[in-house]
Amino acid sequence: MPTGLDRLDFSFEFFPPKTEAGWRGISRAAAAFKPLDPEFCSVTYGAGGSNQTGTLDAVLAVQKASGSPGAAHLTAAGQSREAVDAAAQTFLDHGIGRIVALRGDSRDEGPYRPHAEGYANAAELVAGLKKIHDFDISVAAYPEKHPDSPTPEADLENLKAKLDAGADRAITQFFFDADSFLRYRDRLAAAGVYKPVIPGILPIRDIEQVQRFAAQCEAVVPPMVVAAYEGLEQVEDRRKRSVDLAHELCARLVRHGVRSFHFYTLNKSDLTVEICKRLAGTAESEAAVAAASAAR
Ligand code: FAD
Repeated sequence: MPTGLDRLDFSFEFFPPKTEAGWRGISRAAAAFKPLDPEFCSVTYGAGGSNQTGTLDAVLAVQKASGSPGAAHLTAAGQSREAVDAAAQTFLDHGIGRIVALRGDSRDEGPYRPHAEGYANAAELVAGLKKIHDFDISVAAYPEKHPDSPTPEADLENLKAKLDAGADRAITQFFFDADSFLRYRDRLAAAGVYKPVIPGILPIRDIEQVQRFAAQCEAVVPPMVVAAYEGLEQVEDRRKRSVDLAHELCARLVRHGVRSFHFYTLNKSDLTVEICKRLAGTAESEAAVAAASAAR
């Protein structure tokens, strides 16, 4: 394994499959990440505590297949504190000490309304989890602002509150413009946030699907990214374009000192493995250049 400047850390996110083929697929994908020695593999949690067993089973499956620690996402939306705490305890009883702690979203349209006896937001959830156990906790961050946040400043204050409540790191919403992450990182540093904020990378499997995801969470898909797929009829050409785009984005971040990446895998390994391997090569050459200039 490389060390120092050229060492990159990867984590991978999955969702609980719904079919038998899906379960085989998730284990195959997690096994394909094993050679990359993941920091952790995480599994999303259904809104309102739905499919909690699916998350638990999937965390155990990806943990086994990837040989890396598993992390369970846990959302507070639509549930009492007692129910959320019980879910956390169940994860702990199965040896899962890593949680990605999230507020989640209301199931109905309109502004978010917390459960009457629930955690009001992710910061409260983090504090509650810390009372149960010294979990390793990740929280969500939004370089392009969360839709519920009135201003970028309020959004940043909210992230600070989550980290101050005991979260160890944040993972960002996906973005496609390196500058939006780098500007965000500068603002975090200026606000005195020193805990790691890891870029969340979504390899584009289907540009139209990504545009739909982005519209839901108000993430920006730059016109140049959409245009990059125009006229590409063949699946293989679109695949190559996706690897190139994600590699370009991550390589730019590596040149700016980023060493950890979280990938939204959608339970598939092919694009992500290719991106990570290429990226590791890029980081090695960056390290060689840095070493050469230091020796000069
Ligand atoms: P919070 O940080 O609690 O709040 C979000 C926004 O609400 C803040 O930016 C702030 O503007 C506002 N806010 C919160 N508290 C206050 C307050 N006291 N006063 C004023 N404003 C406030 N969803 C799932 O359902 N399952 C998952 O597994 C899942 N995994 C995710 C993983 C990552 C890495 C990311 C980035 C998102 C994930 N989500 C998941 C989506 C997430 O649940 C939504 O983005 C949700 O809308 C906000 O969750 P949060 O934890 O960021 O909320």
